[in-house]
Amino acid sequence: MLAALAACSLVACRLPYTNPPLAPETPIPTTLPGTVAATNEPSIIPTLSPPETFITSQYRLVATLDFAAHYLAVSQQITYTNNRAQALDKVPLVVPVADELITISSVGYDRGTDWSYNGNRLGGLIELMLARPLLPGEVLQIEIEFAIAVPERPTLLGWSTRQMTLIDWYPFVPPLDAERGWLINEPTQQGEHLVYESADFDVSIYTVNAPSLLQIAAPAPAERREGATHYQLSNARRFVWAASGHYQSETVQAGQDRTPITIYFFEEEQTAAQAALRTAAASLEIYENLFGTYPYESLAIVECIFPDGMESDGIFFLDMGYFRRYDGTQRNLLTMLTAHEVAHNWFFGAVGNDAGNEPWLDEALATYAELLYYEQAHPLDLDWWWQFRIQQWEPAGAVDSTAYELPGFRPYVNAVYLRGALFLHAVRQQVGDQAFYTFLKDYYAAYTGSIANKEDFLDLLQQSTGEDMSALVAEYFNGGD
Ligand SMILES: [Zn+2]
Repeated sequence: MLAALAACSLVACRLPYTNPPLAPETPIPTTLPGTVAATNEPSIIPTLSPPETFITSQYRLVATLDFAAHYLAVSQQITYTNNRAQALDKVPLVVPVADELITISSVGYDRGTDWSYNGNRLGGLIELMLARPLLPGEVLQIEIEFAIAVPERPTLLGWSTRQMTLIDWYPFVPPLDAERGWLINEPTQQGEHLVYESADFDVSIYTVNAPSLLQIAAPAPAERREGATHYQLSNARRFVWAASGHYQSETVQAGQDRTPITIYFFEEEQTAAQAALRTAAASLEIYENLFGTYPYESLAIVECIFPDGMESDGIFFLDMGYFRRYDGTQRNLLTMLTAHEVAHNWFFGAVGNDAGNEPWLDEALATYAELLYYEQAHPLDLDWWWQFRIQQWEPAGAVDSTAYELPGFRPYVNAVYLRGALFLHAVRQQVGDQAFYTFLKDYYAAYTGSIANKEDFLDLLQQSTGEDMSALVAEYFNGGD
């Protein structure tokens, strides 16, 4: 999220969706679906040797979108690999869709029939009880049939007369942390809360009752065959997309692999869209030099109808209002936030983090990346950036605050994003530009495909720079390190 508002087969069973009776030993969730309390026990049986190679889980999604009816029918296959050192006797799936919008018609998997679903207006949770433990390195095949009645709302999953956006539209297996268990967070008022394991996606989209000019904005290059559009996205947190009969689109190429960047916009915003496209191209090239190679095959920018914006792998969304208020200069939210969202491909996409509990890990870096962009692309606008983005808010609060503990959106942004950027700037001033840039490259290389936490970040910072960061950590973080 950008936070600039106010200023940014194998299937042994096919069960009808009936909420089957829970086995006696299955705890009945007493908190919101999707909370840690219901499923945080990692079901440890024996501790065994971890798999020798880390195999990414795979998601195959075949979706049929009835555009006029705003109805999405999906066949989903998940090839889930147990990448951890413990055997599992159950596997949860986060359902990030309100229960009144989703109909789960069947859940099948190759180690049992005893599953449960519990959902409410905030989302839900499917639990698969395994008849035989899933040992480290073993694979579980899951098949789910579901449908979504997409609501008419300006939200991440919704439609308007302008477009339909489909963000967090399928069940997924959350990451399993060796110490904390399944990383399943409660929703938060101030930011994102879902945590995703890096996975491979194979997505096929069929459209019916759609306008002839329908365009799909997606996070990977499209291949059209057999009446569908196919996408493959590797090592990504999630696959999100949008569709509209009103999009105009323009494409440029940028970076060492000549990555195609396409912006999808509404026709009255062409000038602003072209500016955002130039900013995206320039920032991608700057970040490749500073962080490492852009992690995906393409990048899509989507002018959207929901407020603010949203990052994802290979695609991001920015509020129509930012386009409308574009003033022809670099000193505006569209330019600043485009640079911010591009940076999330490295920090959110490639390097994952717990968005609910450690949001600073991607948001501070994405915010500071704005400055890195301005330094190289618009060096005369640095004073403006510092004043407009940081100083006018007099940011306070611990950088490592969770999204749950701060009293509102502005205090959350001030602590996590803005003081986060100040912390990174202080680190840079202490260690010097070269050591700071080397650390950014080291961090990206070390944690691509993983989920980093505060200790990972600070330990690598110390190791990479050889500098004692304890004074800065004490100044900026909750109770120091
Ligand atoms: Zn952000």
